[in-house]
Amino acid sequence: MKFKGLFARLSGLLFPPVCRMCNERQTVFAPRLPGVLCPDCMNRWNEELAETCPACGKVHAQCCCIPVVLRDAGCDAFVHLSAYRAHRKTAAGALILRCKDNNDRDVFRFLAKELSLPIRAFGYDNDVDMITYVPRRRAAVQATGHDHAKQLASTLAHELKLPVQTELRRKVLTKQQKQLNAAEREKNAAHSFELASAADVSGKTVLLVDDVCTTGSSLAACVALLKDAGAARVICAVVAKTEHK
Ligand SMILES: [Zn+2]
Ligand SMILES: [Zn+2]
Repeated sequence: MKFKGLFARLSGLLFPPVCRMCNERQTVFAPRLPGVLCPDCMNRWNEELAETCPACGKVHAQCCCIPVVLRDAGCDAFVHLSAYRAHRKTAAGALILRCKDNNDRDVFRFLAKELSLPIRAFGYDNDVDMITYVPRRRAAVQATGHDHAKQLASTLAHELKLPVQTELRRKVLTKQQKQLNAAEREKNAAHSFELASAADVSGKTVLLVDDVCTTGSSLAACVALLKDAGAARVICAVVAKTEHK
């Protein structure tokens, strides 16, 4: 393990990593998992983590508020790291886009590590039986060659030493559904998912992972399916959440 760390530092010196937010080649190692963010962008990330939830006043990672749409679907707890603003000027936005577009393993490891902190702080890692995720649309997986929610869930599972399982899948869209625009599809989320054929969540505590929670409708649809299938508890974990006024 020591040797591995030394190797990482040496290769970092020989091949300095590029900051995933500002794209500058790094000359100085940032604290915590070096290589993903330069020190300036790491400060940016930390500033975003230090922002507070407008409802409870706690920093996001300590906030226990459950978005209404998720609570209505039966969600038992909700974990997130920061507020989501969908552009590259925020560290969270930049890293999430990196996951979507580039399948960047270092970024998945960084985000999984960060997300594991509040999950451990709340003690959820002791209760969770399995980790699962909100699957991407087939077209998106085909376009990018990967499902970034699955990658994030797998990396988080590795970090928490918990099993990851595919419990949910996208339904094959009907011709009518294919003609819907993004907003209409979002509304249609409840009809977009189904349980995977081998899903067995009865009596289990499930940690449901996604990159972001915007309207929450996809997460809500998945929570409802897991609960209907007998899951005892469903805890949702996302990197960032859109704040609704
Ligand atoms: Zn940077
Ligand atoms: Zn809150």
